Amino acid sequence: MRLYLPLLLLPIFAHAAHMHAHDHFADNGWGNAVAIVQQPAGEHLNGITYVTYQGLHEDPYVAAYNHNTKTWEGPFQAGASELGKDPNRRKKIDNHGKPAMVIDNEGYIHIVFGGHGGKPEHGKNLLGNHHDGRMKHIVSKRPLDISEWEELDNIPPFGTYNQFVKMDNGDLFLFYRHGAHRSDWVYQKSTDNGRTFDAPVSFLRHQRHTELHAEDSWYAWASRGQGDDIIVAYDYHICWDSDTTQNTNGHIAERHNVFYMVMDTRTGEWRNVEGETLKMPIERIYAETHTLVQKIEDQWTFQCTTKLDSSRNPHISVTVGPYFSGKFSGPKRMQHFKWDGNKWIGEVDDSLPVAKGDFIVESKDTIKFFLASKDGTDGVISWWISSDGGKTFKQERELLRKQDSSFAISSIIHNSQPEARIVVAEIVRNSPERRVYLLGENGAVQRSSDEG
Ligand code: ZN
Repeated sequence: MRLYLPLLLLPIFAHAAHMHAHDHFADNGWGNAVAIVQQPAGEHLNGITYVTYQGLHEDPYVAAYNHNTKTWEGPFQAGASELGKDPNRRKKIDNHGKPAMVIDNEGYIHIVFGGHGGKPEHGKNLLGNHHDGRMKHIVSKRPLDISEWEELDNIPPFGTYNQFVKMDNGDLFLFYRHGAHRSDWVYQKSTDNGRTFDAPVSFLRHQRHTELHAEDSWYAWASRGQGDDIIVAYDYHICWDSDTTQNTNGHIAERHNVFYMVMDTRTGEWRNVEGETLKMPIERIYAETHTLVQKIEDQWTFQCTTKLDSSRNPHISVTVGPYFSGKFSGPKRMQHFKWDGNKWIGEVDDSLPVAKGDFIVESKDTIKFFLASKDGTDGVISWWISSDGGKTFKQERELLRKQDSSFAISSIIHNSQPEARIVVAEIVRNSPERRVYLLGENGAVQRSSDEG
């Protein structure tokens, strides 16, 4: 008997010796597995943080972290995207159909994903143009259970940059651009937990530029405001004609200026920061007069987010960088603006690094940015804090650092807890597969290796 004891114990010890925690919870992220614009990438409810990301071949995956037991469930494949399946596609990964998540009042988890404007075979897009993919809506088969999903056929196929906003009364708002670049931005409202949606309502209009060989186009980011309000920050894309003689590079990712406005969801009326009712949908010249936060014309902008402070004044983040010739834009620095009750405060400066990310306004003075940046060849996620209301920022804490990589980063998770604020994916060269992390204010949420 004695002789067998070591044999019996060895595997246990060996297991114990190798039992350690991963800092990532999944390794099947794909391409730019998360982004600021497809949001929220997760939601916290009753001690569990549910997250979604673009996984293998651009399909949406879902995982859940239980804060009490410190255990993970998933990831499960939740749906099937039409993007990411064509091996002959020139640009291998489309990256526009990343999933956005919301949990309705009955606990069903909804995910919208897979869209990049839809294709002509999906029908005529009355609010814009086509490109690829098909926007789809899936819902968990049971409340708060991420293991099984079903598809609902109740939204147009043409959307992209899908975003969910949930109101206190349970109404769901799905925001997205209704097609490729030359399309309106719209929202759709659901008052029955996402089982049906009202028709799309345009709030940003695409149309021919009044003078240039281009079309007016937009990028928006929507979130909860005060009470029944939804707040939206956006920037402008001058969508040059590809054959224009006015711009030697033809169509480029040129974006400028920052705008802000508010919708009262009880009335559907929109107002600017000063409370003036807006004429909808917004057109370019009208936006420049009525909703402008900051004119940024000598540099290029990318990706706004917006939050309210305790005085119900909006703060806005946007990245800004110099023009680089060619199709691709250069490195962009994070910027912060805020409304002080009378005017917009802030200017394009270097108080924050070249980075992507999102922020939390913790108090009137304390603003916390979660930023993905580069340090040499390392990818770094860190926490930049202002304790003087945004005048100055300091790198407070490094949350994650990986060699020879960079990070894709999500917006702040809905109802996020300090332990789990954002999802990031580690971008490495020569492979589209990504490790995916859930990060809080003290770093990555761990996953023990015996959970698989
Ligand atoms: Zn364009």
